[in-house]
Amino acid sequence: MAKQTKIVYTIKERCRVCYTCVRECPAKAIKIINGQAEVLDERCITCGNCIKVCSQDAKVFRIDTGDVLEIIENNEQVIAMVAPSFPAEFENIDYKVLAGMIRQLGFSQVVEVSFGADLIALQYKKLLHDTENQSKISSDCPAIVTFIEYYHPNLVPYLAPIVSPMVAMGRVLRKKFGNQIKVVFIGPCIAKKDESSEIDVAITFRELRELFELKGINPENTVPCDFDPPHSGKGAVFPISRGLLQTMEMEEDILEGNIIVAEGRSAFQEAIKEFESGYIKDNHLELLCCEGCIMGPGMSPYPYFASNARRYQKRSNVSKYAAVKLENLDKEQWKKDIEEYSKLDFSRTFTPSDRSMLRPSWKEIESVLQHMGKFSEKDYLDCAACGYESCVDHAVAIINGLAENEMCLPFTIEKLHNYIRELNISNEKLDNAQEALKQSEKLASLGQLSAGIAHELNNPLGVITMYSNILKDEMHDNKIIQDDLQLIVDQADRCKKIVGGLLNFARKNQVNFTELDLNKLIQHSVSSVIIPSNVNVEIKFLKDDPMAMADRDQMTQVFSNLIKNSIDAMPDGGNLSIEMQSKGSDVIFNIIDTGTGISKDNLGKLFTPFFTTKPIGKGTGLGLAIIYGIVKMHKGDVTVSSNADPNAGPTGTTFKIRLPRHRIE
Ligand code: SF4
Ligand code: SF4
Repeated sequence: MAKQTKIVYTIKERCRVCYTCVRECPAKAIKIINGQAEVLDERCITCGNCIKVCSQDAKVFRIDTGDVLEIIENNEQVIAMVAPSFPAEFENIDYKVLAGMIRQLGFSQVVEVSFGADLIALQYKKLLHDTENQSKISSDCPAIVTFIEYYHPNLVPYLAPIVSPMVAMGRVLRKKFGNQIKVVFIGPCIAKKDESSEIDVAITFRELRELFELKGINPENTVPCDFDPPHSGKGAVFPISRGLLQTMEMEEDILEGNIIVAEGRSAFQEAIKEFESGYIKDNHLELLCCEGCIMGPGMSPYPYFASNARRYQKRSNVSKYAAVKLENLDKEQWKKDIEEYSKLDFSRTFTPSDRSMLRPSWKEIESVLQHMGKFSEKDYLDCAACGYESCVDHAVAIINGLAENEMCLPFTIEKLHNYIRELNISNEKLDNAQEALKQSEKLASLGQLSAGIAHELNNPLGVITMYSNILKDEMHDNKIIQDDLQLIVDQADRCKKIVGGLLNFARKNQVNFTELDLNKLIQHSVSSVIIPSNVNVEIKFLKDDPMAMADRDQMTQVFSNLIKNSIDAMPDGGNLSIEMQSKGSDVIFNIIDTGTGISKDNLGKLFTPFFTTKPIGKGTGLGLAIIYGIVKMHKGDVTVSSNADPNAGPTGTTFKIRLPRHRIE
C-alpha cells in the first residue's frame, strides 16, 4: 500500500458528517465533499484538533513507525530525542525504564529535548531584553507558526526568529556527533512531523507505543538506563502551561502583563485577532495551539492510562519529574554544556504564504444566504451547527468552495420537511389513483354484466310492449282489460328505461357529438331543475373558449342529475357552486354542495348500478351509474370527494368532471 503523504486525513467510512471537526478547525481546512469531511492539505496547519474531537476516530494522522525502523536498520548512529512531556504519557513507567525501552528499539543514544528548551529559553530571554517594548510572538509551536504564515502573513515579522527546542536539540546533536547521524523526535505533537528537514523522522508517543508492541518490548524485559547527556535543567517543565516562561524565569513579566499567554484553539485565535487589531501592544505573545504540549494529539487517549489521568494530572506528572531532575542535576556540568552549545546558531526564518479565504462581495454572500432561506438578519441564526461561527462565515466558506448549503441545519430540516410534505402528497395521489383504478376495474366488470342483462331483456321487453299494444287495440270494447293492458305497457316501458340506463352505464349507447357552448349547457341544466329558495346557486362560467364537442342530451342529463343530487343533499338549504375552468384541452367542472356529505363507506359504491341511499321507491340507484357511463363515453372522468363528519370540518360533496373538449375517436 502506498505511503500516506498527508499528515492529517479522514477515514471516509468512519466519518458521520457531524461537522464537529469543521467547528474545531482553526484553519477551516476541512471541506465537506460528497457528505464527507475531507482535510485540505494545503490549508491544514496540523494542529490535530480535529483528531482530538472526532468521536468516530475518523480523523487520523500519518503513522511513521515504518520510517523509524528503516532508519535504524540502515544507519549506524540513530539518536532518539524524547520530548519533555513524556512523564504525562508514561506515568507508570520510570524514566530510566522508558529510556531503556527506547534504546532496545535499536537507537544508539536516547536524549531529552528539554536541554534544547533550556537553550531556547535563554534565546527568548535575550530577545525580550534586546527588543524591549517591541511586540513579539513566540515561534515554539509549529502549528501556530504555520497558522500565522498562512492566515496572518502580515504578522510574520513579529514571529520570534528562534528555532524550537526540538530543532535546537537537533543542532546540538549534530554539533556533538557530526552530520552523518540520524535524529528521530518522539513527542506529543503531530505538527513536528513537518516542522523541519533537520529532523529525520518525528513520531508521536502513540507511535512509540506501537513500536514497543511490535517489538515485544515492555518494562519487564528492559534494562533501565539514564538518558544520555547533555542533561537539562528547567527545560523539563517546558510542555506545561507557561513552561517556556518558567524556563526563562520570567514570572515577573507575566505579572506585569508584558507577556500574554494564550493556549488552545479559541484563546490563541482571539489573542492573534486582538494583536492584529492593535488592542494589545508592546507585549510578547506566548501562543500554543493545544492547552500545553501535554494535551497534544499525539498523546495516547484514555484508557491507556492506569487512572483517569487528565490535564492536571499530566501537569503534575511533568512537574514531579522536573523536580526530581533538578534535584539530581549536576549544575556545574549543565552550566558547561549550556555555555558550549549556546554559541550555536538558533536562528530561523519564516515563509509567508497567504491562504486566507477570498472575501466575496456582500451581494454574493446575500445571494448564498437567500438560497438557504435567509432573507433578513432575523433569519441569521448563527447557531454554529454547520461548523462555522455565523451564517455569513458559512456563506463565505460556500463561496470559497469549502462548505455546502446542506451543512445548515435549519435549511436541511426545512428541506426534509418539504420532501416529507411532497412525499405525503405523492402517497395520497398514489392511494387515490389506486382506489380509482380498483373502482374503475370493478365498474368495468359490472358494466359487462349490465350490458349482457340489458341485451337479453331488450328483446322480450319489445315483444311484451308490442303484443300488449296489439291486444289493447283488439280489446277496445272492454275498458277493464284495456286498462290492465295499459298497465303492462307502462311497466314494460319503465323496464326499457332501466335497460337504457344500464346500457348507458355499460357505455353501450351511441354518443351524438355536436358542438356545444358549455356555459349555455350548464345554464340550461340549472334551469331545468327546481331550485328551492333556501339554496343559493353560484356559477363560475368559462372565461375563455366555451365550445366543446359533446352529446347535448346526455351531458344535460349528467349535470341535471348532479344538481338534483346536490339539492337533495341540502334539505335545510345551503350553497351550490358550479365552477368551470379550462385545463389544457380539457374542461373541468366542479359541482360543490354544502350538504350533509356522503359517508366514507358509501363513497366507494356511489357509481355502482342500483346502489342508493334514498328510501325505497325514491330512486332507481341508476342516476350516478348513468352519469359515470356517459362521462366515460365522452372519454372523460368523474370523481367525488366528500365529508360527512362535522368534526372533521364543513360537510359537503364535490363532484369533479373532466371532459375533453374534442372528440377522441
Ligand atoms: S468529527 Fe469530522 S471526521 Fe469525525 S465524524 Fe464528525 S465530521 Fe466526520
Ligand atoms: S489538523 Fe488542525 S488544521 Fe488540520 S484539519 Fe485538523 S483541525 Fe484543521
